[in-house]
Amino acid sequence: MLTIGRFAPSPTGSLHFGSLLAAAASYLAARQAGGRWLLRIEDLDKPREQPGATADIIRTLGEFGFCWDGEILYQSQRTAAYQQALSALASHTYPCTCSRKDLQQHAHVGEFGLIYPDTCRDQTHTDAPHAMRLRTDDEAVCFTDLIRGHYCQRLHKEVGDFVVRRADGLFAYQLAVVVDDAFQGVNQIVRGADLLDNTPRQCWLQHLLGYPQPSYAHIPLAVSENGQKLSKQNLAPALDTHKRLETLVSALHFLGQTCPEADAFGSLNAFWDFAIQQWDMSKVPRVQALSYTN
Ligand code: GLU
Ligand code: ZN
Repeated sequence: MLTIGRFAPSPTGSLHFGSLLAAAASYLAARQAGGRWLLRIEDLDKPREQPGATADIIRTLGEFGFCWDGEILYQSQRTAAYQQALSALASHTYPCTCSRKDLQQHAHVGEFGLIYPDTCRDQTHTDAPHAMRLRTDDEAVCFTDLIRGHYCQRLHKEVGDFVVRRADGLFAYQLAVVVDDAFQGVNQIVRGADLLDNTPRQCWLQHLLGYPQPSYAHIPLAVSENGQKLSKQNLAPALDTHKRLETLVSALHFLGQTCPEADAFGSLNAFWDFAIQQWDMSKVPRVQALSYTN
């Protein structure tokens, strides 16, 4: 079967070292398998978008030598597909009219955030503004991560019924990502470990929608010395395009791969040829996060 991988950044800022890791690991895994690698811009949440970030991400990926296959897919243009999926889920969803304050007062805080207290579970119809929640149950939802191993959650108990369409009308990341991965035929997902605990929710959606389940590999997050995640939100430095080879070599080292120093490579192409050939998922550290010093 043809391997199809992808990189799916949200345009909330420039690419930083953490996003480069996810881009590189997904790229190397797909290319080593002789597969395709797709680029999808997850620009669903317009309010959180930073103007110019999409163009900046695309340009930076090109400058680092990534070549994606086919057209870029934009989530902002996929509303009809998400609506269709929501309709297909109708017997598993219900309108939730709880305010943020209601939730703060009544929901327990679990390991993965607030657990919805089922307040609106029996509500079938309302004219008031509402989110749509997906019913979960107490069966364990499990998958085997290629890096982190067997992982299970009892969704109802540990996460609670979760939002698939927000009260402001925006579709939730969980729904959009599942619909688009299926639409694009993605069967190999390699991404940051911050999404490991979201994966059972996505597997549950795949199950209800009758979609195949892709393989998953969650790579360690790059954190600063004090344990903070490098992210656009905490203003991790944008990638320096003057030090592309050095940065790519650091990324490979971070991912546990054997790789000579940057001056051993005459060009970005030479680096990528080497990296694709040498890529070994079993060498990636099997941990949630690792500190990274520049
Ligand atoms: N758009 C998500 C992010 O930038 C990643 C989605 C995914 O890889 O599933 O965090
Ligand atoms: Zn509610």
